[in-house]
Amino acid sequence: MSHTNNSLTHRLKDGALRRDFPIFRTNSRDNGLIYLDSGASAQKPHSVLTSIQDFYDSAYANIHRGVYQLSEEATLRYEGGRERVRRFLNARRVEEIVFVRGTTEAINLLASTFGRSKVGPGDEILITHMEHHSNIVPWQMLCQSTGAHLVVVPITDDGALDLEEFERLLGPRTKLVSVAHVSNALGTINPVKEIVRLAHDKGVPVVIDGAQAVPHLPVDVQDLDCDFYVFSGHKIYGPTGIGALYGKAGHLAAMPPYQGGGDMIESVTFDKTTYAPVPARFEAGTPNIAGVVGLTAALDYVDAVGFEAIQEHGEDLLEHGTRLLEEIPGLRIVGTAARKVPVFSFVLDDIHPHDVGTFLAGANVAVRAGHHCAQPVMERFGVPATTRASLGIYNTREDLQALVDAILQLRRFFGK
Ligand code: PLP
Repeated sequence: MSHTNNSLTHRLKDGALRRDFPIFRTNSRDNGLIYLDSGASAQKPHSVLTSIQDFYDSAYANIHRGVYQLSEEATLRYEGGRERVRRFLNARRVEEIVFVRGTTEAINLLASTFGRSKVGPGDEILITHMEHHSNIVPWQMLCQSTGAHLVVVPITDDGALDLEEFERLLGPRTKLVSVAHVSNALGTINPVKEIVRLAHDKGVPVVIDGAQAVPHLPVDVQDLDCDFYVFSGHKIYGPTGIGALYGKAGHLAAMPPYQGGGDMIESVTFDKTTYAPVPARFEAGTPNIAGVVGLTAALDYVDAVGFEAIQEHGEDLLEHGTRLLEEIPGLRIVGTAARKVPVFSFVLDDIHPHDVGTFLAGANVAVRAGHHCAQPVMERFGVPATTRASLGIYNTREDLQALVDAILQLRRFFGK
């Protein structure tokens, strides 16, 4: 990377980070795109894109099996990526990091292995009302096949978790807690350290869905003491199709495999197969090697910008954006918890969120409209959908002004 850490941090503060992301340029000129959909997927800096190209150009081969140099090089990069993720999450051991396709696959893996071994008929799995479907459906499927029940912790009117209710619902039948670190639909930051402490007091393990947290907050799994932490590369400026699952070594070692196939075995006969130790046991088949290379570059980039600066920037955008949006007549922000990342879900007069999104798209402002894969959140707030602007490190106060200007134009268009 050509910048020093310091210069990247300064570039964030100057609003110049955008230039590192080729999507914002057309023929080397700024194309005016206002991208406010990073919660769905973040754009990629140049260094991530070139890391993937370089890898295919100069070091590509399948991993773990080859005796030739290219394969050794590819293996080094892949395993180097595992160490990179370990450092990013401050996990104790590199074996505690399993590569997966993303958050959804990680939670499905946990439901099918750890979950299946923990829950039986009448047991309870505790989640919250603000989960993404990916942290609801796998547990629901597990409940269907085991006779366990899903118990849902309510949220308050401002979109915060009701911690008292969490404590009350954490009962003798609770075998597992799975909770979002940050809500994708509301932006709420959950008090996950406190949640882990309360659950551990009752001997209950905790899964944290970190999909929306890792781009905004530093994560230390040893400090959180969570049992599992999962995230997707594409939301933290990395490629699609790659993510990571952190699990405490003792849990992973005791878990049965998820999928069968190559790389996850120790020996195979037609009578019996023995499985490889972790993490290989959970990585059946040829993995997304180039994805790991790209994820490594993304984590390098984010760490070079620095979480202190990222959080400061995010808080400034959150505060500024909230103030601007609250001044718009007829606009209601859904999700106003005290601790949030810069995500603005809103409804506007009686204009359907899809119409809002389409109108904004015409102004080159990319937002999301819909239920954001969190239908229970929509039901909780009595809306069929919201328009959501979710911001990343390349966004600025000017982007928020462009959003507001487009909304005001839209209101005029509707005669408001
Ligand atoms: N969990 C949360 C909180 C999310 O926001 C998302 C994606 O939006 C997911 C899980 C699923 O992530 P992926 O689609 O990368 O598997």
